Amino acid sequence: MIRLEKVSKFYGELRVIDDVSLAIRRSETTVLIGPSGSGKSTLLALMTGLEWPDCGAITIDACPLTPRSALRLRRRMGYVIQDGGLFPHLTARQNVELMAKEASWPAEKRRERLDMLSALTSIPSSVLNRYPLELSGGQRQRVSLMRALMLDPDILLMDEPLGALDPMIRADLQDQLKTIFQNLAKTVVLVTHDLGEAAFFGATIILVHQGRIAQQGQFHDLVEHPLEPFVSRFIHAQL
Ligand code: ATP
Ligand code: MG
Repeated sequence: MIRLEKVSKFYGELRVIDDVSLAIRRSETTVLIGPSGSGKSTLLALMTGLEWPDCGAITIDACPLTPRSALRLRRRMGYVIQDGGLFPHLTARQNVELMAKEASWPAEKRRERLDMLSALTSIPSSVLNRYPLELSGGQRQRVSLMRALMLDPDILLMDEPLGALDPMIRADLQDQLKTIFQNLAKTVVLVTHDLGEAAFFGATIILVHQGRIAQQGQFHDLVEHPLEPFVSRFIHAQL
């Protein structure tokens, strides 16, 4: 369970996260959705300890997220940042394998995992030998996904991991990811702009608006029982 209690975050004078309390249940998929600039990426960065709240508290499975605990907690998390965040001076393969090497995985185990992920994401070996700047946007995204899944983390935080993919690859990956999330009972927090994707993953939806949570619930809750006018406006703009 990931829990935020009365969390606020400022960038200078700007309060980008405004007194947010929320709970994300274990082994479920939760989607953060909302307009551009509403604070989705910031919320995700706070959950991984890459950004720190100015007030409030964050716990991961009841363990407070602090600068001391962050490194240990982060080992359980796979994180796909919005624009991939691959190290430019490493090849795609080196990026994907980095953490497994640091965790002293034997070469054979790394290769097996890499082969599985390369089939999952349809990234062939030849592409893995290239540097991030030599990849297309969609390939970069899929390599970032491979990197996040490499250590088989039990918590996956993904910031628009399927955003720039062509529709066929996207549909294919959605199917496969859904199977992974469900079969392996991962705790998944996914940012998307696409309500259809949220519904496809059967996710709990957290609708973010101006640094606050406008509503948290299933797709049908938001449609049938919107808590504020913004919720209906947001949903009807997408239907
Ligand atoms: P998008 O859908 O466009 O990715 P988002 O919901 O992820 O948007 P955030 O990236 O969380 O939005 O940004 C929330 C607000 O915080 C925005 O107003 C943004 O301009 C501001 N912001 C984000 N990062 C910084 C930063 N490092 N310094 C100053 N302001 C920032
Ligand atoms: Mg964002």
